[in-house]
Amino acid sequence: MLTYEQALKRILAAIPAPRIAVVRLSESLGLVLARPMRARCDLPPFDNSAVDGYAIRSQDVPEMTNGHVSHATLHVVGKSEAGRPFRTPVRAGEAVRILTGAQVPQGADAVVMQEHVVRRRRQLIVQRRPTPGQNIRRRGEDLRQGTRILNAGTWLRPQEIGLLAALGVAKVPVYPRPTVAILTTGDELQPLGRRLKSGHIYESNGPLLRALVQQIGAQTIDLGMGRDTLASLTRKIRRGFACDLLVISGGVSVGDKDLVRHAAARCGVRQLFWRVNIKPGMPLFVGKHRRTLVFGLPGNPVSVYVTFEEFVKPALYRLMGRGWQDSYTEPAFLTEDLQVSRTRRTHFIRVRCSQHNQLVAEPLEGQGSHRLRSLVEADGWIRMNAEQGPWSAGTQVLVKPGSA
Ligand code: AMP
Ligand code: MG
Repeated sequence: MLTYEQALKRILAAIPAPRIAVVRLSESLGLVLARPMRARCDLPPFDNSAVDGYAIRSQDVPEMTNGHVSHATLHVVGKSEAGRPFRTPVRAGEAVRILTGAQVPQGADAVVMQEHVVRRRRQLIVQRRPTPGQNIRRRGEDLRQGTRILNAGTWLRPQEIGLLAALGVAKVPVYPRPTVAILTTGDELQPLGRRLKSGHIYESNGPLLRALVQQIGAQTIDLGMGRDTLASLTRKIRRGFACDLLVISGGVSVGDKDLVRHAAARCGVRQLFWRVNIKPGMPLFVGKHRRTLVFGLPGNPVSVYVTFEEFVKPALYRLMGRGWQDSYTEPAFLTEDLQVSRTRRTHFIRVRCSQHNQLVAEPLEGQGSHRLRSLVEADGWIRMNAEQGPWSAGTQVLVKPGSA
């Protein structure tokens, strides 16, 4: 049986090189830039006013003499508004009414705030000489045309999208949003919103998986619930081949009704591996059909969560051009002994963390792979390899924060 590390390695090796696509900027949130971006224009694109006031020639206002204020009376000849520039050059003795963001007219070299002047009809009294450039946001002061602004590999956040939009970039080269088909299996499953029939359970892995996939920013395609028959499963599995990933829950263990592997084989899925020495999630199945990576996750909800986080998520990150880094990084001290069974098995354990001088991690009650409650109560996970254990209280461990 593969170890956790071997399984992850095999999955990552099976990821095809990500394609590059050009998508609309408005659809690029959470994607990764595939090529560097340069500024296509200056930012700001023209000299403009930082305030509401008057654009003037600073030399028209006399300098202070012997500490006495001397003022100038200027003639207001027009108006420059945002989007409606005043196109005539400002001459000696003239001023132009200007609003924030409006282009500074030629000839003017400063803007005085309206609070600092007195206006009477067309006359403007300016008390103090402004410094040249005052209240002017210079063309290119933020960014010069041609400057490299974002490297390839940048993960696009709202901030990057705002900057690119300011530069007029309508489309961006990215690694496109992967599509993930989700198929849940089991004759006991019932859709939400109906009264539960006896012996049935609500279908919860589908909603869990959709949320996990959407959180990463990949696109989900819902294949619905498959019945525990080869006919039902093969029909649905084939529909998943249109996607980058097909994620199936349930039916991968050794029970009479665990038919997912057989159905996958019948559809031409080549098995990469079946079973990994982990707990929970041991019966994990991974295969490939052309470009589509097929994950058969064990049906227990916590197994679904763990195998998604540990194996599906790294695969998706790779496909999206995002690097994969191990997220067990926070040092914490165990509050109690942890016994482990079996050699080489990797255990994923739900913990509650709290700060007592140092961070401490308390393993939660109810670690069974069907226990959803502790999945919610946990604010972190620890990963323990059997060779490292058993761990006694006080051992320092590395926690993966639960909200990551
Ligand atoms: P299986 O891997 O199909 O043997 O399922 C293991 C356990 O997970 C069983 O108790 C199933 O009832 C449960 N299970 C399987 N699929 C789902 C699902 N979609 N939602 C909730 N529980 C499930
Ligand atoms: Mg089942």
